[in-house]
Amino acid sequence: MASLPSCIFCKIIKGEIPSLKLFESDKTYAFLDIGPLSSGHSLIIPKHHGAKLHDMPADQLTEILPVAARIAQAVGCEDYNILQNNGRIAHQVVDHVHFHMIPKPNEAEGLGVGWPVR
Ligand code: C5P
Repeated sequence: MASLPSCIFCKIIKGEIPSLKLFESDKTYAFLDIGPLSSGHSLIIPKHHGAKLHDMPADQLTEILPVAARIAQAVGCEDYNILQNNGRIAHQVVDHVHFHMIPKPNEAEGLGVGWPVR
């Protein structure tokens, strides 16, 4: 499993930086985003370090969407966006592949919160 010592998400996976963990398996880690765009905003990441999606071996990505769906269900959210920012122009800030699961609040909670995403 490739890991980059200076990578903030590799540090989170190793427990060197605290996170609110939601799920962990041998190849996937999920936690609450530290700067949520809506309640329950989560990040699902492969443990294998790769900066961009095209750096990532396909077998490291197989759990991402099922885990995102399970988390959405667990937080009681039926409407959500899955987002993967790839590259600076696409607003990628952390250079370790990650997928956002961003719950969409209903109208009573505030329509439009979290969208458009940066
Ligand atoms: O896709 P992008 O690279 O822009 O998103 C990075 C995400 O990582 C941000 O939503 C940020 O809040 C989150 N983050 C985090 N915990 C950290 C550092 C960044 O949840 N320690």
